[in-house]
Amino acid sequence: MLGITHLLFAAILAFLLVNIFSFSHPILFFLLFCFAALLPDIDHPGSMLGRRLWPLSSVISFFFGHRGFLHSIFVPLAFFLLGWYFHAFWIGLALAGGYIAHLVTDMLTLSGVKPYWIGPRIRGFMRTGGFLEAVFFFLLLVFFVWLVVFKNTLI
Ligand SMILES: [Zn+2]
Repeated sequence: MLGITHLLFAAILAFLLVNIFSFSHPILFFLLFCFAALLPDIDHPGSMLGRRLWPLSSVISFFFGHRGFLHSIFVPLAFFLLGWYFHAFWIGLALAGGYIAHLVTDMLTLSGVKPYWIGPRIRGFMRTGGFLEAVFFFLLLVFFVWLVVFKNTLI
């Protein structure tokens, strides 16, 4: 899945969360959530974040492989627990939430994701950057614009 689709999907979830629940720092929560949705692809040098963090992304890709450990549920779980441990619950929640949003959208693609690192792979039917992803992106965009225009409680 393309970085921009991950970003948009995460933006929708984060927007819903900050509008439904009252976090102390809604804008920061939103930004962290969206940033975390790009993090897993640091294991791929050609990704949105990987290109900017090259050569680090190549090193990570070498050790972990693309859609390996960094595409498992253990990383967001660690974010969540760290946030809880350091009394920064909302930061952990934002990072874990955005990260999980990425994993869920990757599960819609043909290559899929192994959420438990070892074990079954969950895959969908979308080709990354293909026609179906373009349709998915467009539908998300329409929904996001609708949310911002009609359901925004922040401004
Ligand atoms: Zn990914």
